[in-house]
Amino acid sequence: MKCPKCGEEMADDMGICPYCGYVASQTDNIEKETNEMMKKMQVDNSKTSNNVAKFIVRALVICFAFIVLYNYSTICSYEKYFREL
Ligand SMILES: [Zn+2]
Repeated sequence: MKCPKCGEEMADDMGICPYCGYVASQTDNIEKETNEMMKKMQVDNSKTSNNVAKFIVRALVICFAFIVLYNYSTICSYEKYFREL
């Protein structure tokens, strides 16, 4: 491959131009890999945050349902208590 900085021929597997010291492809690949990793990380983070939000909403709904059921059962028991009187 040709060095994109100075245009001299350089070995593909070297990664560094022997004429100008340009560091080729390997750093590009690392940058691409890190960018892809960051994108994946961001996607995972958004997914996990969505799951956490859903979990919190479900927990709140379950708590609310328990409170309503508990109040309903106590009201029912009060009604029974007063009927027995
Ligand atoms: Zn070069």
